[in-house]
Amino acid sequence: MRILVTGGAGFIGSALVRHLVLERDAEVLVVDKLTYAGDRRSLRDCEGRPGFGFLQADICDRARMDAAFAEFRPEAVMHLAAESHVDRSIAGAAPFIETNIHGTFTLLEAARGYHATLDAAAKQAFRFLHVSTDEVFGSLGPTGAFCETTPYDPRSPYSASKAASDHLARAWRETYGLPTLVTNCSNNYGPYHFPEKLIPLIILNALDGKELPVYGDGSNIRDWLFVEDHARALVAAVERGVPGETYCIGGRSERRNLEVVQVICDLLDQRLPAARPRREQIRFVTDRPGHDQRYAIDCGKVERELGWRQQESFESGIARTIDWYLANDWWWQPLRQQRYAGERLGLIPAL
Ligand code: NAD
Repeated sequence: MRILVTGGAGFIGSALVRHLVLERDAEVLVVDKLTYAGDRRSLRDCEGRPGFGFLQADICDRARMDAAFAEFRPEAVMHLAAESHVDRSIAGAAPFIETNIHGTFTLLEAARGYHATLDAAAKQAFRFLHVSTDEVFGSLGPTGAFCETTPYDPRSPYSASKAASDHLARAWRETYGLPTLVTNCSNNYGPYHFPEKLIPLIILNALDGKELPVYGDGSNIRDWLFVEDHARALVAAVERGVPGETYCIGGRSERRNLEVVQVICDLLDQRLPAARPRREQIRFVTDRPGHDQRYAIDCGKVERELGWRQQESFESGIARTIDWYLANDWWWQPLRQQRYAGERLGLIPAL
């Protein structure tokens, strides 16, 4: 398959592209602006492989998107490019509105223009997969789980911008017949995760002997999915999903934030014993405004209809993730140094 992947230099995008290029022999064109969150080094295993191409471009740039479609002639689009960090969206929402809403609109319009040029068979086979988050559904109480029919209730600038883009993707199918599908996935973790996100931040601060910041009392619950399992689910959605449908993807691995931090401390203590147990580095910090209490996903539809199963349990996935960070400081050291420089300049909210 010939697939145009937006945001392919980011965390999930690069896992997807490695899977497509290295395990599925797909032809892939990555379209990525290379914001602070994009890193071409995450794709170094794909560089030079037949069928792998990279275009540094902004999805808001209609002329460049039109040219990318016309030259690459994709059979599918997997749209992951986004501003993705909730804390940054609270500090400044403008890039979230621009990329997540205007960028998705621009890409849909470019895809629609290209789709109209295809012959009938290619038109029918074409897929536009819009990759989204479970955060569009808001916050859950102690029981229940999000599913495909859960009403939208976004509560942060990030989730509101993603909700808007989900609606655009669905509207372009209903209105213009573009074969779009939407996936909403729970929190991902794994290798190449940008060091500002909870799990890598905790691993790296724990290694450095720094404080381990936990929002509020650490009772917020997330449903964790190993990133390579998400990548496999996205490919299943493009290959076997039905246009117009939504698929909720999750890990059936609900954990309180504090539990996640404690597991990381304990696994690091086993691998690299420190003078004091690393749990002593945990510090509770002022909660994020509008912090959603609990997310959980019922992924029954994607299991039944797409035949997808996650392969990694939380226990094995978190151990693999820790081992990857221990073995790959070439990747995270430069990003972490930039982060601290950004914090000192007041460009990045300190955590
Ligand atoms: P990320 O921040 O790691 O990567 C985003 C990528 O998009 C980066 O490579 C960045 O350079 C690129 N990008 C940003 N703005 C762009 C623009 N205007 N034009 C082109 N490229 C641009 O994000 P991620 O965690 O890999 O998430 C990928 C997608 O999956 C997002 O749409 C996100 O909403 C969704 N998602 C993420 C999670 C999660 O846990 N991380 C869970 C569910 C869904």
